[in-house]
Amino acid sequence: MAQMITASMLYSYTTCPHRVTLDRFGDPADRDEVSPFVELLWERGHAFERETIEALGFPFLNLRDVPPAQKEDLTLRAMQEGERLIYGGRISHGRLLGEPDLLRRTESGYIPGDIKSGAGVEGANEDSDGKPKRHYAVQLGLYSDILQQLGLATTKDSFVWDIHGEEIPYDLARPRTKTGKIPMWDEYGVVLARVEEIADRHLQTTSGLISACALCHWRSHCRREIVAADDLTLISELGRSTREKFPPDLSTVAELSGTDLSDLVAGDKSTIPGIGAKTLQKYHARAVLQKQEKPAPYFTEEVRLPASDTELFFDIETDPFRGLCYLHGFVERTGRDSATEQYVAFFAEEAIPEDERDAFAQAWAYVQECLDAVVYYYSHYERTIWKQLARRYPDVATEDDMTALFEEDRFVDLYSDVVKSKMVWPTYSLSLKTLATFLGFAWRDTDPSGTGSIQWFHEWVETGDDAIRRRILEYNEDDCRATRVLVDALRGLAVPR
Ligand code: SF4
Repeated sequence: MAQMITASMLYSYTTCPHRVTLDRFGDPADRDEVSPFVELLWERGHAFERETIEALGFPFLNLRDVPPAQKEDLTLRAMQEGERLIYGGRISHGRLLGEPDLLRRTESGYIPGDIKSGAGVEGANEDSDGKPKRHYAVQLGLYSDILQQLGLATTKDSFVWDIHGEEIPYDLARPRTKTGKIPMWDEYGVVLARVEEIADRHLQTTSGLISACALCHWRSHCRREIVAADDLTLISELGRSTREKFPPDLSTVAELSGTDLSDLVAGDKSTIPGIGAKTLQKYHARAVLQKQEKPAPYFTEEVRLPASDTELFFDIETDPFRGLCYLHGFVERTGRDSATEQYVAFFAEEAIPEDERDAFAQAWAYVQECLDAVVYYYSHYERTIWKQLARRYPDVATEDDMTALFEEDRFVDLYSDVVKSKMVWPTYSLSLKTLATFLGFAWRDTDPSGTGSIQWFHEWVETGDDAIRRRILEYNEDDCRATRVLVDALRGLAVPR
């Protein structure tokens, strides 16, 4: 019998097609432990769903805890009887199997909905309402498909109840964006067809080093595969979709590094469709460096790192679940003497807006006191979050204050302004962790990661355990020191002053 196709398989496909293959055919012994952060995501998802359902102010049919064997019959019967809202049902048709959180009766039949502990749309900001998420749309597509095939729905309407308590309509007959041409229904159809091909072994997939690997339960297995294959995704910031654009004779880092650049870029034109000349040149340089016996990063153009007697190495920690920025950490160094540098931290002692505001106000005052200091940070995240905080707490500082501050020459985003745009590194990624580790820096924590710190903060809020608070501070301090290690290494390289 053909393998049933579920919504979670479609969801996995949108993250990584190879995960669909491994979940179906991989050796379970090769799986890693589920990461504590992923467990936290599940836990929070379930808790949010429970809270949402408990807060409903009208009657509904709850099938969540009914055994799977009876659930489908009961769901069907409830729809035939015209139940207004069904929670936790199960539907199937042919090889499609779905468990939508919600089935709601409308004038045009039943429409499916999911309860999501994330925002219902992506890319929302002051100028845009955002757009439906592809991974939500394909799941809803599967439910809607089943309902239509069962003759229980006549439209492609569906919806999401999101973390902000809003109902986001997902009209699958429409494209995800105003200018888009492809309806979400067609996107669903393509994903479904691919997943069916994978399930039937008609489509081979391969692993590739992408950001999602860090939290995936196949991460160790795939890492071994990727390194053994010398796969192109080992080149930093060369993702899976770019890899597919390379011709078959350029499928390894060694092959790319062994190719003459003039065969790839003629004048200012790339010879590989879909990859621009500058980008191809960059990938080629990274491949060449990666294959050197003792690779050392280098600058592609002159970089001036501002000089000052006082340097601040800055890093923040946030809790995306609570929408809080709870820690602003600085390593302060004077006269380039690392032996006497100090760690200065502003911590929100409770996960509440008042304490977030106070920590922000203290960090802001501290930066104001260090007007002559050069401030180094890694990526635009610090700037983005401080702007958000200014919007939230205009009594502390205004958004204009933030814009002006981060535009000062003494504020340096090492990732955007230096590492990514003006350097070549031989590493698999350009994350601060990767670069500082390459430079010989070691975090004191045995498992340092941004997602780890989010999970520790959650534990600290739940338990108040001071050891966890110390772990978070130590981790943040090491992030700041890693930034300092990077700055010192950049100064040691030939070109910049
Ligand atoms: S580890 Fe990466 S490549 Fe492997 S299945 Fe997971 S996401 Fe895909």
